[in-house]
Amino acid sequence: MTDVEIPSEQWAQVVERSGGPVVYKKIPVRKPGPDEVLINVKYSGVCHTDLHAMKGDWPLATKLPLVGGHEGAGVVVARGELVRDVEVGEHAGIKWLNGSCLACAFCMQADEPLCPHALLSGYTVDGSFQQYAVAKAAHVAHIPPECALDAVAPVLCAGITVYKGLKESGARAGQHVAVVGAGGGLGSMAVQYARAMGLRVIGIDGGEDKGKSCKSLGAEAYVDFKISADVVADVKAATDDGLGPHAALMTAMSDKPFQQATGYIRSRGTIVCIGMPTGAELRAPVFDTVVRMVTIKGSYVGNRQDTQEALDFFRRGLVTVPYETVGLSELQNVYQLMEERKIVGRYVVDTSK
Ligand code: NAD
Ligand code: ZN
Ligand code: ZN
Repeated sequence: MTDVEIPSEQWAQVVERSGGPVVYKKIPVRKPGPDEVLINVKYSGVCHTDLHAMKGDWPLATKLPLVGGHEGAGVVVARGELVRDVEVGEHAGIKWLNGSCLACAFCMQADEPLCPHALLSGYTVDGSFQQYAVAKAAHVAHIPPECALDAVAPVLCAGITVYKGLKESGARAGQHVAVVGAGGGLGSMAVQYARAMGLRVIGIDGGEDKGKSCKSLGAEAYVDFKISADVVADVKAATDDGLGPHAALMTAMSDKPFQQATGYIRSRGTIVCIGMPTGAELRAPVFDTVVRMVTIKGSYVGNRQDTQEALDFFRRGLVTVPYETVGLSELQNVYQLMEERKIVGRYVVDTSK
């Protein structure tokens, strides 16, 4: 099947029980099935979803024991006998959607994230916090060879997700978009994709360092929710005519900003929910939603085409993720920083350390 030498054991970070912590240990390397590939993961981004998975705080159970991670960038080292369109040696990415049935009503329309049989990396199947990860060949991301694997890793979830969310918002070039959680992993990417798509960005997050970061990535305005006396008024004031942004991309994992967005969104505007705060519910005044014709919708990762488009923005140098690299062995510390909201941009783990 391949000339590449594949070890029988490898280092991985394993969630042994819901709630954590992760345990750094050696586990066996799996063999790919007929329609799967084995990827030697070099780097993996750490998404807030991985923390939700370890804590088990979403209303969807994870597999256990679990290897998390779904922003894994690496090299294909083996493939099953049915695989034709992924080559050994190719750079490929493990993303959230590890596989889907390709036959249901959603898959038929390239809405594969909605597939009732979807396999989720680092959640229902083992993900990228290991040196060798398996994915369905049909769903791996094809990473252009000129892209550095550490820098591109966060595109595989954060990038794809916010790019899709911006498309779902319907906002057009020249219009204002509020990015809520703009200093975080998804938010940092959203600021840049929005800019590259010709949108004018208002970043919302807490703290001076996050403000500096999102301004440097291209936000025109920054509203610090920790010091603003009236977030709704400040966001509206940041738009040319004071009527509020045409779209709001919700990437924070706290529910208060959802209510604020219903206050500042422009009439006919769209609120796109992306972050999933534990137990959060959406509340919006029905009267206002009707007479101002506001749209509130969810957006969930992206399909295979969104994936390749999001990667192409990266390849062309239009989005650069601010990231810091640490060894895979330090994953628990990254979760700690994430919990304390101290991360600006993304942490990427190097699976060789
Ligand atoms: P992150 O921790 O890197 O970033 C979240 C940011 O939100 C932080 O910078 C934090 O300071 C900020 N924040 C917190 N409270 C805020 C408030 N009141 N107002 C403004 N900003 C606030 O997390 P991430 O990796 O970017 O993930 C964010 C969320 O998106 C998580 O819930 C994750 O599970 C979810 N997610 C959803 C999808 C999807 O397909 N819909 C995909 C990936 C991640
Ligand atoms: Zn993610
Ligand atoms: Zn399906």
